[in-house]
Amino acid sequence: SKAALFDAENRVKVTFNDVAGLQEAKEEIKEIVEFLKEPTKFTRLGGKIPKGALLIGPPGTGKTLLAKAVAGEAGVPFFSISGSDFVEMFVGVGAARVRDLFKQAKEKAPAIIFIDEIDAVGRSRGKGSMPGGNDERENTLNSLLVEMDGFGTNSGIIILAATNRPDVLDPALLRPGRFDRQISIDKPDIADREAILKVHMKNLKLDKEVDVKKLAAQTPGFAGAELANVSNEAALIAARKNKNSVDMQDFQDAIDRVIGGLEKKNKIISPQE
Ligand code: ATP
Repeated sequence: SKAALFDAENRVKVTFNDVAGLQEAKEEIKEIVEFLKEPTKFTRLGGKIPKGALLIGPPGTGKTLLAKAVAGEAGVPFFSISGSDFVEMFVGVGAARVRDLFKQAKEKAPAIIFIDEIDAVGRSRGKGSMPGGNDERENTLNSLLVEMDGFGTNSGIIILAATNRPDVLDPALLRPGRFDRQISIDKPDIADREAILKVHMKNLKLDKEVDVKKLAAQTPGFAGAELANVSNEAALIAARKNKNSVDMQDFQDAIDRVIGGLEKKNKIISPQE
């Protein structure tokens, strides 16, 4: 089967209201929305708009969601691609894909390009590379660097990239004029977990005894993606039991189920368990 070149969404509906918590990250990233909306306000004194920002944080914490919200708030198209898609590619395909992505985004500028899991393609070059093994990845990374350098600062394209391994990135990616801004995104604290649960419970029929604070207290270590999962599982569990609303027991069962899923995943990662 032929994989899509990349995803392009012309009208993004996600806004900052869909992103709960992440107060600091939102503040920092709001500046990028301004750059996209009113570039000349910033460039009139000779300043250059940054080309890219790196979102750093553990899986499922809302990096993709936040990047999408930037596009939604600025009213610009969202082009996305995942670094891991490049890993198993034939010679030359990755580099061509990067060029294509930038070409299409430029045609639609102003626009956001989002590169998820940039570490998959952006690991330091020449480190631990087996002969012939990493050449294709390095070609792709080189083509990404060339594209980033190739467009002017006033092209209306801003590149957001996400990673949970900033330590392995090739330093070339972090140089001025590339991903020179870094925004860190942490797992939610109890207050943010409550806010995230509320976002995802908004459209559920809830029993009036449901205590969101209590659920937030019972989910330490959960990322936003897991909380979204809890909320959805609870609704399915209640529906399976033919209930008319989702109650605390359903949420409790959903939390257990999500914890069970996480434990399984961890077992696969750490075989000594
Ligand atoms: P990964 O690194 O695994 O790609 P990510 O950090 O990009 O993860 P997202 O894909 O943005 O995480 O999050 C997955 C889903 O989890 C979102 O679509 C959303 O439903 C939910 N979610 C995560 N964080 C938040 C948040 N802060 N507020 C509301 N929902 C969230």
